[in-house]
Amino acid sequence: NLSDKLDKALHVLKGHGQITEINVAETLKEVRRALLDADVNFKIAKEFTNKVKEEAMGQNVLTSLQPGQLMVKLVKDELTELMGGEAEGINLSGTPSVILMSGLQGSGKTTFSGKLANYLKTKKNKNPLLVACDVYRPAAIDQLHVVGDQIGVEVFSDRGNTDPVAISEAGIAYAKANGFNVVIIDTAGRLAVDKQMMNEIATIHKAIQPQETLFVVDAMTGQDAVNTAKSFNDILNFDGVILTKLDGDTRGGAAISIKSVVNKPIKFIGTGEKMDAIDVFYPARMAERILGMGDVVSLVERAQEQFDEEEARKIQKKIAKNKFGFDDFLSQIQQIKKMGSLKDLMGMIPGAGKALKGLDIDDDAFKHIEAIIHSMTPEERSTPTSLNASRKKRIAKGSGTSIQEINQLLKQFDQMSKMMKMMQGGGGKKMMQMMGA
Ligand code: GDP
Ligand code: MG
Repeated sequence: NLSDKLDKALHVLKGHGQITEINVAETLKEVRRALLDADVNFKIAKEFTNKVKEEAMGQNVLTSLQPGQLMVKLVKDELTELMGGEAEGINLSGTPSVILMSGLQGSGKTTFSGKLANYLKTKKNKNPLLVACDVYRPAAIDQLHVVGDQIGVEVFSDRGNTDPVAISEAGIAYAKANGFNVVIIDTAGRLAVDKQMMNEIATIHKAIQPQETLFVVDAMTGQDAVNTAKSFNDILNFDGVILTKLDGDTRGGAAISIKSVVNKPIKFIGTGEKMDAIDVFYPARMAERILGMGDVVSLVERAQEQFDEEEARKIQKKIAKNKFGFDDFLSQIQQIKKMGSLKDLMGMIPGAGKALKGLDIDDDAFKHIEAIIHSMTPEERSTPTSLNASRKKRIAKGSGTSIQEINQLLKQFDQMSKMMKMMQGGGGKKMMQMMGA
């Protein structure tokens, strides 16, 4: 997929001490190929890589960063631009504001209608009405009612009526008469683009003239998503895209393609089946996601400022030789404390989120940890396995802590050294690079 390809492309730079014109060109050729493979328009891909190249050549300020990281940052910044810069909201200026959903069957229109209603109600203080215009399946109307009940939002439906235009007009009239300030119209989709569906949505669109027409698309459908987006946009000239099902492995390559083909902003993303699984679309975050790197760049920047490179090099050697002990742990903690909250920092490392879940590092606990380590003998510090019951008892007394806390620290130490070893190999190499190695 796209992110693997970009990963690979950016790997070309690994091992080069300096960004030169040659390795930049090599990398960007790969990046361009990856973008083309993802069906990004040829011209856009070319413009994209040219821009990154220019930036890379002009960069002198950041030469202290790893060149690979610098390229990642440049590519990320450009990807962000390509996907639309700033996040764009929804037009809620009407009385009521009418929002029309469009998209294929199964793309997530009904689910997203509920999510959006819930979002507008709870976050934007709106009073939304949902209108059920999928007249082909009785189950579709039931589904919207279920969703409405879940979030406490009224649903307007008319089961005998098979004319979606009439239902949407009646729904809007009902909203006006009953003080609803947003109307969300859920429509029927089909499994593939066809004339009848297009005619129907175009007719509804023309009749009700919505403030906002949204195109909902399943991010997992890849290239099809782009073609579908184009078909709907040709007919509706929609205002924004909703990218659903981004909770799986999908890294969002569709976002680049759709944005570059229809040139409409992506407004929200769906990240699950539940009603609160909705997020405003932030191009920068999506760029990070596509590059699969968490917030590595800012972490690198902070680490660069704070970390004692000499110290980090020593520690890395020890980890490699399995000689990482409590003295090193202590010095790590002291370094990390200089950088800010440990949890925040670890959260920025891709993949560290999971490792952290079981690892309760709380910043206040540092004091106890330091006290415990200070109560150990040098031998105990370098060989944590030597801590038997009687030693633990002595240390607990000396540090004013409990055996429980010591056991917990041992567990944390163990997890941390495992994590560090893990980071040292493979994808986590970045972490060690950041530490100045
Ligand atoms: P519609 O035919 O366009 O109205 O699509 P639905 O709203 O009925 O959604 C189709 C299926 O996709 C349902 O099973 C939803 O639960 C599921 N779905 C919708 N949005 C998301 C999402 O963001 N993530 C996941 N994992 N599933 C979703
Ligand atoms: Mg539906």
